[in-house]
Amino acid sequence: MSKRIVIIGGGVIGLSTAWHCHASGHQVTVIDRGPSHRGGCSFGNAGMIVPSHMIPLAAPGMIRMGLKWMASPESPFYIRPRLSMELASWLWKFKTACTQQHVDRSAPLLRDLHLASRAGYEALQSELPDGFDFSPTGLMMLCKKNKSFHEECETAKFAERLGVPVKVLSAPEAAELDPSITMDISGAVYYPKDCHLSPNRLMSAMENRLAAQNVDFRWDCEVTDFAYSASPVSNQIERVLTNLGEFDADEIILCGGVWSSAMGIRLGIELPMQAGKGYSVTLQNPVERPSICSILTEARVAVTPMGEAVRFGGTMEIAGLDESISTSRVRGILKSIPDYFPKFAVSDFRDCKPWVGLRPCSPDGMPYLGRPRRLQNVIVSTGHAMMGISLAMVSGELVAEMVDGKPASIEGLELLSPDRYGRRS
Ligand SMILES: Cc1cc2nc3c(=O)[nH]c(=O)nc-3n(C[C@H](O)[C@H](O)[C@H](O)COP(=O)(O)OP(=O)(O)OC[C@H]3O[C@@H](n4cnc5c(N)ncnc54)[C@H](O)[C@@H]3O)c2cc1C
Repeated sequence: MSKRIVIIGGGVIGLSTAWHCHASGHQVTVIDRGPSHRGGCSFGNAGMIVPSHMIPLAAPGMIRMGLKWMASPESPFYIRPRLSMELASWLWKFKTACTQQHVDRSAPLLRDLHLASRAGYEALQSELPDGFDFSPTGLMMLCKKNKSFHEECETAKFAERLGVPVKVLSAPEAAELDPSITMDISGAVYYPKDCHLSPNRLMSAMENRLAAQNVDFRWDCEVTDFAYSASPVSNQIERVLTNLGEFDADEIILCGGVWSSAMGIRLGIELPMQAGKGYSVTLQNPVERPSICSILTEARVAVTPMGEAVRFGGTMEIAGLDESISTSRVRGILKSIPDYFPKFAVSDFRDCKPWVGLRPCSPDGMPYLGRPRRLQNVIVSTGHAMMGISLAMVSGELVAEMVDGKPASIEGLELLSPDRYGRRS
């Protein structure tokens, strides 16, 4: 039966959800408080699809590494100190999740989700003939120091045990794999199943196609509240209330990125979330253009070829919902690039305008994906942190299965339950 589905949020998670729900024959409305030519987190990111990222952000060693980085204004990680119960509670939950047991439980699920999403993007290519620069050429973790190379080799062994293809490369082997860029490294770890794409092209291609298929997009439309249906079924939301009027819905899908936790409060769902601010700069005429995307391991900078350009992205700043740009953090990204790619100079980026985006980060590094127990017709899909592009296709697919009451095509989704941090009374 065709349902009226209202999707809140027109980021990559909302669009992928719209894509799959529309394909299942439902009547879909996407609501976003931004304009059609918006530029949030889903646009300026590094566009990587990463089966290699099967270790969640909350993992042993993260607290120690974070504390070490806190001292430097150019480091890739920072928590802005502030008196906030929400932040204190999120940090406590993060610390509690930084265990090997959490990694061992989460990694097989993350692997399955990333690989399923990768397959989804491969299929999407044939449906969007103008393309979105999808390149299944793998990803290299580039290491300057022997110590981090050794750590990356340990992660490679973990990936291998989980069946994720991986290859350890000496510096000359890395140069042979990607001769289009000059590298100064001690070694690399190569994940051949990883891919990259241009998020800006992906977003506009999906939006244009969906609009042409009569998916109803409502821009500049802010969700302010929800109206429950009259008893006897009071755990059913009947209407979504916005500044542009009310929308009747059979199903409501919450894909509001970092702002989802505020909407969660209105729905009585506890979705602890912090914004993980990141920056990117896109160089239109690079001196060299890699053909494989990479991560500059010690600097935590992602490098992605996009058409003729190259995008460099990084930092994770926990600083509330503030979208201002820290010039010292951007400088930290730029200064790291010539260390790995000696043909580049910081001055190459003189005319580049930095972009900023807020990643929606849950404390355990896992998305929230599922139906909250207390609401019959709401599905949550958010909190994808550094993996929202990578996991978008599978997230949309899983939500469409939930809408249709089908069994989930991937096992272990209880780890993503939106009820895992309890619920509001
Ligand atoms: C520097 C950087 C690099 C990254 N690189 C990668 C990468 O290589 N690979 C990867 O997988 N991920 C990457 N990410 C992460 C990825 O960008 C995010 O996980 C993803 O974009 C989140 O998408 P979303 O749809 O959940 O949220 P968003 O894109 O933030 O969309 C949420 C939408 O909800 C709307 N909204 C919010 N509140 C309301 C309301 N009340 N009413 C109506 N609308 C509302 C907002 O306007 C917004 O458009 C990166 C992020 C950064 C910052």
